Amino acid sequence: RRAEVPASVHGIDPNLVDRRAAEVVHTLKQAGFEAYIVGGAVRDLLLGLRPKDFDVATNATPEQVKQLFRRAFIIGRRFRIVHVVFGRGREHEVIEVSTFRAYLDSAAAEQVSGNEKSSRQALAGVQHAVDASGRVLRDNVWGSQEEDAARRDFTINAMYYDPETQIVVDYHKGIQDAQKKLLRMIGDPATRYREDPVRIVRAVRFAAKLSALGFTLAPQTAAPLAASLPLLADVPPSRMFDEMLKLLQTGHAIASVEQLRKLGLARGIYPLLDMVVERADTPFVRAALLDTDRRVAEGKSVVASFLLACVLWDDVRAAWQQRLHTQHPLPALHEAIDEVFERRIGDVSGRGKLAADMREIWVMQPRFEKRTGNTPFGLVEQPRFRAGFDFLRLRADVGEVEEALAEWWQDFQNADDERRADLIAQAR
Ligand code: ATP
Ligand code: MG
Repeated sequence: RRAEVPASVHGIDPNLVDRRAAEVVHTLKQAGFEAYIVGGAVRDLLLGLRPKDFDVATNATPEQVKQLFRRAFIIGRRFRIVHVVFGRGREHEVIEVSTFRAYLDSAAAEQVSGNEKSSRQALAGVQHAVDASGRVLRDNVWGSQEEDAARRDFTINAMYYDPETQIVVDYHKGIQDAQKKLLRMIGDPATRYREDPVRIVRAVRFAAKLSALGFTLAPQTAAPLAASLPLLADVPPSRMFDEMLKLLQTGHAIASVEQLRKLGLARGIYPLLDMVVERADTPFVRAALLDTDRRVAEGKSVVASFLLACVLWDDVRAAWQQRLHTQHPLPALHEAIDEVFERRIGDVSGRGKLAADMREIWVMQPRFEKRTGNTPFGLVEQPRFRAGFDFLRLRADVGEVEEALAEWWQDFQNADDERRADLIAQAR
């Protein structure tokens, strides 16, 4: 079952391997441990993509790993892993090192937490499960490399690469699946979705990410997806929110929407995501999704507040319009925003900063219309001006406001004070 695949077969370009990740593997091996680059990085290397981050798997415990590096920190409560840190400031790099863990199948999970009710609770129960004698099992159930591979999700996510020997260790025919361009869940897919329903969303994410390379989900992996949707109800909303953002903000937003529709998952993953899919063909939301994908492709940053402000803008505008008959514009807008937050993102209202940033983007929009006196000078100095302007730019792109307005602000932000005064005079 364990296949050791040489470079002549897998063809990984060693130049794509991160120097620091190779160094971490080297240090661990020098100390007598097994160590490999693992998971998504091996998948991306195999496909000729430059991985965005590198994880290392080892048979050393977190304590043993920590001792080998100058700046290493044990983190995580559920699963303790080590962050090995290189460099400082913006240039700093983190290599995540995790110890081989055992896979607890759902039967084992039920057993160790027999008095738990739902299967999801049973899974969560593994984290603080008690065995027959009442002994608390550790969060981390260390295992062999083989066990570590079996607990992973897709065959192409479960390979190990030794940058020194350039050998890929493959237990689940990941190499063949990569060649066949197949995303295949390890084990019985329906069972694996039950164990961790987030894998449903991960299936969509990888299907979207790799669709451009011609990958598709294996039929048996795709088949139980739609029927497994109700399982997501037991996943904490904050985790679902994060998974939703990974679908939308990792450069494959348009492809994710396509996959969601194709796989019969257009509704039911997460309320806000349902709205995105529903509105993905409206000019404004489509422009926002395309813009997000383009920014990621160009290596620029993207923020959740911007995209979500785009998705909910229709609601805000409608609620605002209704109030304009009886209220002044600004208080009407704030109340409209309150109403939309209440109705649409109640479960993420704990994310204060996100909501505050969205509100700022929206509240700036009417202010862009006032191009007199000192107002533009104040607006351009706002810390969130750029996001507000980008939003205006999209509105102009889809014809919601005049192109000239967006151009005026484009000029104004780049101008010196004298030219700014001219621009204000012209705008009268
Ligand atoms: P990306 O490039 O998007 O980060 P990734 O494959 O690295 O993709 P991560 O979420 O960073 O994805 O997870 C790292 C690895 O951990 C995966 O490749 C997979 O082997 C394993 N993994 C992560 N989440 C799960 C899960 N829910 N079930 C099983 N294995 C998982
Ligand atoms: Mg990763």
